[in-house]
Amino acid sequence: AVTESSVVEAVTKQLFIGGKWTPASNGATFAVHDPATGQVLCEVADASPEDGKAALDAAVSAQAEWAAHPPRERGEILRRAYEALLARQEELALLMTLEMGKPLAESRGEVSYAAEFFRWFAEEAVRIDGGYAVAPNGVGRVLVTKQPVGPSLLITPWNFPMAMGTRKIGPAVAAGCTMVVKPAEQTPLSMLALAQILADAGLPEGVLNVVTTSDAGGVMEPLIRDGRARKLSFTGSTAVGRKLLEQCADKVLRTSMELGGNAPFLVFDDADLDAAVEGAMQAKMRNIGEACTAANRFYVQRGIADEFARRLTERMSALPIGRGTEDGVVVGPLIDQAAVEKVDTLVQDAARRGAEVLTGGSAIDGPGHFYQPTVLTDVPTDALLAREEIFGPVAPISVFDTEEEAVAAANDTEYGLVGYVYTSDVKRALRVSERLETGMVGLNQGIVSNPAAPFGGVKQSGLGREGGTVGIDEFLETKYIAVSL
Ligand code: ADP
Repeated sequence: AVTESSVVEAVTKQLFIGGKWTPASNGATFAVHDPATGQVLCEVADASPEDGKAALDAAVSAQAEWAAHPPRERGEILRRAYEALLARQEELALLMTLEMGKPLAESRGEVSYAAEFFRWFAEEAVRIDGGYAVAPNGVGRVLVTKQPVGPSLLITPWNFPMAMGTRKIGPAVAAGCTMVVKPAEQTPLSMLALAQILADAGLPEGVLNVVTTSDAGGVMEPLIRDGRARKLSFTGSTAVGRKLLEQCADKVLRTSMELGGNAPFLVFDDADLDAAVEGAMQAKMRNIGEACTAANRFYVQRGIADEFARRLTERMSALPIGRGTEDGVVVGPLIDQAAVEKVDTLVQDAARRGAEVLTGGSAIDGPGHFYQPTVLTDVPTDALLAREEIFGPVAPISVFDTEEEAVAAANDTEYGLVGYVYTSDVKRALRVSERLETGMVGLNQGIVSNPAAPFGGVKQSGLGREGGTVGIDEFLETKYIAVSL
């Protein structure tokens, strides 16, 4: 039977290096907590910088052979892992809910979303192409081929503990790169479970190495500066991403950066209001608002603003809150107390500057890190939450009159990950989509994530794209071979 203790027990809580499970060399461990109760779930190995180096050594030694491994076999390993993830969806979902807090239904959704990246890149592994062209002089020939970039460092966040892993591991495996993965310290268990699944699916020793650590910077910076890793793929905050880009400059590492967002959600007078409210709930409340794609600012045209706010408030105030393992719960806890305090600071700041609290507006007492689903209106443009990623269940609404004004407000941020547009006017839909300074747009749609689509941002939301047909390019180098006949 799948029980809370059985799923936690089933995970090997050690480092995975060179195909072997091993404790930290100094025997250290750190605690993993259930954010719904604040209780310790278990301890996992706490890697030191020496352990990190051993993981990179393993990745480096496995690289040449792995690059030469037949693409079809690399794809088949991913395909088997995809099937294993789905077969074990229930236990993996429970494990994820325990360490991260999201409701079980969402954890199930993430396991299948995570698995889809493996299915997608299983199919892409055999589609890496090249070219053969006649040079303009008629004598030269331009041969182009793709090669794996080499040993890669992958750093993943806690909000999607498995899918942000498979979105990087999938293309790295398909491209023929070996890797060192460092999951977020809050949620190491999903990644450890994934490592075992990949090993069982036949991934050769040393291709995937996982280091769990409470000292992310101390372990990863030497690996970034080592010079043998050729690539860093990071998902996390813009502040940390910026620091890592600086570290990568030292040895000129290739980088993929999925950083923060500040998504605008625009609703025009001519929108289908039912669809807009539904989309707003998805864009705001997926993952308890703890997503870089979460709608962070709602801009609603004056004619429907009151009605939109009324309906959103009705929906938000009716959401069942509780531990993610309980039936029917939609709003789980935030990841930790610091997250609750940050969300509350942003809400209180907006209120102090004149925003009206329509529902919610405070943390929930008791064990666990809960915050009330909150709707704010008349949010002034100088409110902190108009600039910063909220990462919680808070929907700030502002009113606009013209399309021009809406687009300007939407683009008034250093971030550029995703924007949402609700309108039934086709020309306006495309016009506004083109003008949004974002890597992605949800057009009459509250969720954009899709393994078959290129995910990523512009401006300070990041560099590169994950998923889609371009996702594998992040792990490939183009080689040109010149010949003359
Ligand atoms: P969040 O604020 O959502 O926790 P972070 O950017 O802090 O986002 O964390 C994302 C990932 O980056 C996590 O795996 C975390 O451990 C890691 N991380 C944080 N700081 C550093 C650092 N200085 N060097 C390398 N990795 C880091």
